[in-house]
Amino acid sequence: MHNFEGKKVWVAGSRGMVGAALVQRLMQESARIVQDPPRQVLDLRRQADVEGWMESSRPDVVFVAAARVGGILDNANHPADFIADNLQIETNIITTAAKLGVSQLVFLGSSCIYPKHAPQPLKEEYLLTGPLEETNRAYAMAKLAGIELVNAYRKQHDCNFMSVLPCNLYGPGDTYDIQNSHVIPALMMRLKEAIESKSAEFKVWGTGKPRREFMHVNDCADAIIHAAKNIANELVNIGTGEDISIADLVAILTEIAGYKGQIVFDTSKPDGTPRKLLDISRLQASTWGPQISLKQGLELTWQAFSDQPSQRRRA
Ligand code: GDP
Repeated sequence: MHNFEGKKVWVAGSRGMVGAALVQRLMQESARIVQDPPRQVLDLRRQADVEGWMESSRPDVVFVAAARVGGILDNANHPADFIADNLQIETNIITTAAKLGVSQLVFLGSSCIYPKHAPQPLKEEYLLTGPLEETNRAYAMAKLAGIELVNAYRKQHDCNFMSVLPCNLYGPGDTYDIQNSHVIPALMMRLKEAIESKSAEFKVWGTGKPRREFMHVNDCADAIIHAAKNIANELVNIGTGEDISIADLVAILTEIAGYKGQIVFDTSKPDGTPRKLLDISRLQASTWGPQISLKQGLELTWQAFSDQPSQRRRA
């Protein structure tokens, strides 16, 4: 069992949704959080800058939560940015961590890197057993390379590095952008507009049939810390074990928001992967379970979102 008490921990990407939640959770572990420089000061895509920063800050433990992330359309429209930025960020951090002898590293992947038609629920060993979903293939290839890098350093240099694969996340600190964000923040923004403009119709992308496993980011951070402390495996799925169709998600959100108009499915927009429910046996075997139900988490997130009328895309 690993312990973070008194350890110098660098959460790369601490301004992102998961990174911020990890910092909060690590503070409960009495970790010494290394101050994460903003993007303007440290560009994680530049190897020399990352090496210089890590040599001077000398973290004991590193969480690689920094990544270029976005929703289905952002991924489909900017594949070059998604593959290039993510390959650079992860390679720079992981190789430097190995060189400096960091005692533990946790790399964050995502459930969208599993093959599009893999059997459900998705077991860790199904990675690389079939073709990827087209809309996020560039991002997935970069994350798969990151996982291979982690495994290779474990094998060749006996590094204590591991990867975690979270399902679709939501919660405080999410990116709010109608076009580019993930489904929950995008729908919240459009629902608010529909209510304010008294719109009779509410448009949802795709058929409503795809299923997704949604997890509140605080539960995700808790599960990642739990896995890092207790699970020796090199790869661990992070999820709730339950999924829901987009149509049912919309029904919950419209009820929470009090929207009574008609739901229209815009099938000119992509559905993406039909389903990506994670098998969370490794997590459950170490006695972890989620604390925040989807309904409760969506209520909290809607409340926080509607209290901030001017919330827009973060830089
Ligand atoms: P994905 O899990 O990588 O597909 O990520 P997203 O969160 O972007 O999309 C999840 C599902 O929600 C997809 O099937 C989308 O077609 C659907 N969806 C419905 N409405 C929206 C929307 O307004 N924005 C986004 N991003 N997805 C939407």
